[in-house]
Amino acid sequence: MLNWADTNASARQPAATDVERDSTGLGEIERGGARVSVDDKRMINARADVNQLLPLKYRWAWEKYLSGCNNHWMPTEVSMQADIALWKSKGGLTDDERRMLKRNLGFFAASESLVANNIVLAIYRHLTNPECRQYLLRQAFEEAIHTHTFQYIVESLGLDEGELFNMYREVPSITDKAAWALRHTQNLDDSDFRTGTPEADQAFLRDLVAFYVIFEGMWFYTGFAQILSLGRRNKMVGIAEQYQYILRDESIHLNFGIDVINQIKIENPHLWTQAFQAEVRGMITEAAELEAAYGRDTMPRGFLGLNAALCEQYMHFIANRRCAQLGLQPVFADGENPFPWMSEAMDLKKEKNFFETRVIEYQSGGALSWD
Ligand code: MN
Ligand code: FE
Repeated sequence: MLNWADTNASARQPAATDVERDSTGLGEIERGGARVSVDDKRMINARADVNQLLPLKYRWAWEKYLSGCNNHWMPTEVSMQADIALWKSKGGLTDDERRMLKRNLGFFAASESLVANNIVLAIYRHLTNPECRQYLLRQAFEEAIHTHTFQYIVESLGLDEGELFNMYREVPSITDKAAWALRHTQNLDDSDFRTGTPEADQAFLRDLVAFYVIFEGMWFYTGFAQILSLGRRNKMVGIAEQYQYILRDESIHLNFGIDVINQIKIENPHLWTQAFQAEVRGMITEAAELEAAYGRDTMPRGFLGLNAALCEQYMHFIANRRCAQLGLQPVFADGENPFPWMSEAMDLKKEKNFFETRVIEYQSGGALSWD
């Protein structure tokens, strides 16, 4: 049984001072140092030893780690036969559908790597809580599985890998989004960057907003809507199934990011100023505009039930939801969801048949052969 509360408070000695704070966990070992008390655990700038998972403080982070593990899947479990047949057939897909599909795949293929690199190289170092780091390690592996998905799709359909993986540098509507998000991680990439001042801590929050709330929480959602809309018309059903698994993972990534930001706010109310709140709302508005441009570029004409105007409206709905999750006022006047079917796609438990299509023959520990 896990112990959620530190009951052994009497064994505590005075906590390390801020000067001694070791945010990476790779500094000198403090021999005979004080035991960790939950009271010393913090999201950022913690004094508590980051190498001690227990006692846990943030139950939500541990539960997301468990949920991520329970959702394990591999792209290769999904059959691509129907997709390959449709992709290779002459009239199976229109030119507009092919354009949207390729650009959507191109956007995700590089984005999964950008998100993974941001977690591993920027966020992990500064998030000084072991249960959150445990989740980040799980999330990092999920991003690897997502990148693997695009490798598997490219290989299955025989797509031009150079074209697809280079789109984030060659297609302006995709480059604009990637470059916008990268601005915020580049701040943290400097090896001299340290949290601990209001300016630095706000820079860290901006990176969390850019990647969790905007990249994964907004831009990915119109991307999912595009592919799942094709799937609803029985087109590219293998890719649509993989996107449903990715969507399930991403909804936990997004909610983890929201919880992290909100917990940092609780612990550091001085960071969440009126000016900073206005800045975050501005970031969300700007991100919705970049997404609208991407929508017009990927769907210049639109298809049955899906077009750039509907995607823009969906983005406004999602943007307002993200604001509400962060305790901010909505940024758009129109808040209607034009894709109510997306909420069903998100709740996989409703779709009993979904799991029956899955191959579940993992090697168990006892079946592994070492020679
Ligand atoms: Mn991902
Ligand atoms: Fe993610």
